[in-house]
Amino acid sequence: MTGHVYSRIRLKFACWNCERHYELTRKLPEDEPTLNVACPFCDAEGIADLSPYQQKPTVARKASKADPPDEKTPSTKWKFPEVIPTTSS
Ligand SMILES: [Zn+2]
Repeated sequence: MTGHVYSRIRLKFACWNCERHYELTRKLPEDEPTLNVACPFCDAEGIADLSPYQQKPTVARKASKADPPDEKTPSTKWKFPEVIPTTSS
């Protein structure tokens, strides 16, 4: 299983306007996986859509008696590219 569970993470974004890269430490949204970002170079505000990188917990296959009970609430896992593209808002 790939992916990681994060609460806060430092991500690198590519500005949709000036195409430069910048890093931000953000809290990851669970409900709507988009982040509002602002480029520190050109002040362009943008939206980073994180849904492609979200790995929803897979629904357990048919429960087997051998499986231990899953007592923990499944958390969203993420797998990010090196640089996340942004789009204009
Ligand atoms: Zn920019």
